[in-house]
Amino acid sequence: MSRTNDPNLKSWVEVPPGSDFPIQNLPFGIFKTPGLTPRLCTAIGDYVADLQVLAEHGFFDDLGIDPRVFARPFLNDFIALGKAKTGAVRSRLSEILDDNLEDWDASQLADYFLHRQSEVQMLLPVRVGDYTDFYSSREHATNVGTMFRSKENALMPNWLHLPVGYHGRASSIIVSGTPVRRPKGQQMPDGAEKPVFGPSRLLDFELEMAFVIGRETALGQSVDIADAEDYIFGLCLFNDWSARDIQKWEYVPLGPFLGKSFASTISPWIVTLDALEPFRTEGPKQDPNPLPYLQTKGPGSFDIQLEVEIRPEAGEGKVVCQSNFKHLYWSMAQQLAHHTVNGCNIRVGDMMASGTISGPTPDSYGSMLELSWRGTTPIAMPDGSERRFLLDGDTAILRGWCEKEGLRVGFGEASGKVLPAE
Ligand code: MN
Repeated sequence: MSRTNDPNLKSWVEVPPGSDFPIQNLPFGIFKTPGLTPRLCTAIGDYVADLQVLAEHGFFDDLGIDPRVFARPFLNDFIALGKAKTGAVRSRLSEILDDNLEDWDASQLADYFLHRQSEVQMLLPVRVGDYTDFYSSREHATNVGTMFRSKENALMPNWLHLPVGYHGRASSIIVSGTPVRRPKGQQMPDGAEKPVFGPSRLLDFELEMAFVIGRETALGQSVDIADAEDYIFGLCLFNDWSARDIQKWEYVPLGPFLGKSFASTISPWIVTLDALEPFRTEGPKQDPNPLPYLQTKGPGSFDIQLEVEIRPEAGEGKVVCQSNFKHLYWSMAQQLAHHTVNGCNIRVGDMMASGTISGPTPDSYGSMLELSWRGTTPIAMPDGSERRFLLDGDTAILRGWCEKEGLRVGFGEASGKVLPAE
């Protein structure tokens, strides 16, 4: 276990109980304020720490990094330095914020580089080049297959042999807090003879996580599954907003298109694989055994608790789903090995989402489609209203965190409010 994971570390910055951002997390993000241009930061307790200012004060001088990399509006150039360098920065941040290490004590400079999270604007952390969405939850694929085909043929014949996925739209990936306009499109209502055009009536969230590619490959090169995690910089929360009526009419034969591409919301913090290491765990047992290029040794999943809250415009919110990343059948390493096995190249900042993460119980389903079972079992809200799908004014809030023996490492939120169609 690396120094940064030591559960006994404490910061001189106050970290409230239950915070997602203890000194053991130190995720990376981008923030700005009315007076400060976009720049790199980490999170500690209720604060962000400005990496550009720390670089200007020489805290990273011995790490052999161009200090201008901390003043960029995206993390891409920083991530591209490689894990040896980015890990060294994280390790230095751990020293800077540690209340026991006086060599690197920056507490005298706190006023210069710490800002309350409530007083800064978090920006999209990564310029996403390509975005892929997998479909790696067996429970989700089974639920959807049962609804749209039959219980017996819920999983397609390929599903247990490869991580199914599709290429998504990167331009509409947005950061938490950005409102989402209800999309319009073609739909074929049940029993109708002709398609209609209008606002989607079946707007949904999908509870997912995504990993960010940290190292590029050349065209023609495949990532060996044993090395796959070297290519993964970190993870964030991911809401793959879905318009079920548009999706249902358009998706045969080529798959998701306009029912998905109008928006995907991510959390502003990229949590490194290093920070997640204490929470590594086995995924589900795989039967049949996958082909050799998809076979892994050792635990390839992480115990990340996930939840989704729906908060009406004027009313109390309700947590409608509690799930866990560890339910995913296919691991990130398997997804990446499969993605590149044909020679498809990957680039720093590419984003690969997990697919909806549903668990085994009805309260762990990761979409309204499943929670309300196509609208047949509505969810009761605290204000007495019901939800089959999302209404205008609703905010969907995804949260994720790991917790073990008093250590909590979290992702913050991926939140988005539904605005009425224009
Ligand atoms: Mn999805």
